[in-house]
Amino acid sequence: MEEIKQIDICIVGAGPGGAAAALVLAKSGIACHIFDKAIFPRDKICGDALSGKVSAVMRLIDLEMPKQFSVLPFQIPSYGIRFVAPNGKELNIPFSLKDPGQMEIPPGFIAKRIDFDNYLVEEIKKNELIHLHENTEIVEYVKNENGYLLSTKTGNQFQTKLLIVADGAHSKFARHHGGIEMDELHYSAGLRAYYKNVSGFNTQNFIELHFLKGVLPGYFWIFPLANGQANVGLGILSKTISQRKLNLKKIMQDIIDNHPSIAPRFKDAELIDGMKGYGLPLGSKKRVLSGNNYMLLGDAASLIDPFTGEGIGNAMLCGLAAARVAKIAIDKNDFSKNALQDYDNEVYRKLGPELNLSYKMQKLVKYPWLFNFIANKASKNKTLAETISCMFDDVDLRKKIKSPKFYFQLIFNT
Ligand SMILES: Cc1cc2nc3c(=O)[nH]c(=O)nc-3n(C[C@H](O)[C@H](O)[C@H](O)COP(=O)(O)OP(=O)(O)OC[C@H]3O[C@@H](n4cnc5c(N)ncnc54)[C@H](O)[C@@H]3O)c2cc1C
Repeated sequence: MEEIKQIDICIVGAGPGGAAAALVLAKSGIACHIFDKAIFPRDKICGDALSGKVSAVMRLIDLEMPKQFSVLPFQIPSYGIRFVAPNGKELNIPFSLKDPGQMEIPPGFIAKRIDFDNYLVEEIKKNELIHLHENTEIVEYVKNENGYLLSTKTGNQFQTKLLIVADGAHSKFARHHGGIEMDELHYSAGLRAYYKNVSGFNTQNFIELHFLKGVLPGYFWIFPLANGQANVGLGILSKTISQRKLNLKKIMQDIIDNHPSIAPRFKDAELIDGMKGYGLPLGSKKRVLSGNNYMLLGDAASLIDPFTGEGIGNAMLCGLAAARVAKIAIDKNDFSKNALQDYDNEVYRKLGPELNLSYKMQKLVKYPWLFNFIANKASKNKTLAETISCMFDDVDLRKKIKSPKFYFQLIFNT
């Protein structure tokens, strides 16, 4: 066994959360070691849709980063969203461009995670302050008076003052040290498959959410990808799956083979990669995100949006917040629970309102009649259609949907 290495900051997981933390730390001149059990490029089961939050964090890492990313061959820009209500009513709504100063950057992107995550890891590899350990699984964490002692699968040990935990939905640290339990009411299961030759996409690469009757409050999605491919998937709340004893693979195959508006689009489609499942720990319940000498990020902190399923941007925002709080902790040489409490405050200040509203909307979409009613009205009412479009990234507008006044106006003003 090698001697124990002493390190100020260790990050476990080089997905979007861990990578963003490392890159923002390096921007402040702070070195770190980042560990991942995988060798990149590696796949991550996901819908592959990147929201405006992702470009916002990229811009803070490097002003030019979103622009450079937007010309890479593996991504495509996305300019809007297609909602399909349970009654089949379709709404094609462009994303709002909120920041006129960023007109040259598309409002959203779609890129396979194998490529997107590798892009971030390539940025890490270029940075001398970041020490990347690929193929290095952390298997044990022992708390001691100086922080945490980490052990790798191959028996190496690292002593760190500050542990940044970004090891995803199955985080062992979050369960055993962070006190985060899997809770079926706040967890979804998702399936993803890659196809080629799916037809019927909007010319501006709209992402598509199909709210089909049998899968509410979840949805079936079809997202276009580069090279004529598509990311196709299904996500449903775990509690609904166990209550109704649902077989996700069977349901998804049935939709693709038989649904009247979806099956024709798969007539010439070819499955590239079989259906694969993974968990989505939802941020619909507030959790403690830090403690003495540690902070939990992204999926390890259960911060996926309970309505949209967005987690990449949220993980990267956590990376940003963790790096800022880590800098202060280093400056003051204080890694205590009290000092790191600011991390929880910052994450919930940024994400709390939208997570709360999304939770309310997740509950609302359980009612197909209400959904159909809104879709019918929205297809005749431009303002309502725009409101729904903005809901995905505008919390103030989501607040409108929650208020009884919104429904009153809907009934009497359309
Ligand atoms: C089916 C599905 C569809 C989704 N669709 C979308 C979408 O379209 N858009 C969106 O924004 N979000 C989506 N999400 C959510 C998104 O995938 C996650 O929120 C996001 O990946 C979280 O990033 P992260 O950095 O926290 O964790 P991850 O991306 O999971 O990264 C964790 C990293 O930690 C490493 N690791 C794990 N354990 C260890 C260990 N012991 N030692 C060392 N390394 C370790 C892993 O190898 C991995 O690289 C979806 C999720 C699912 C399951």
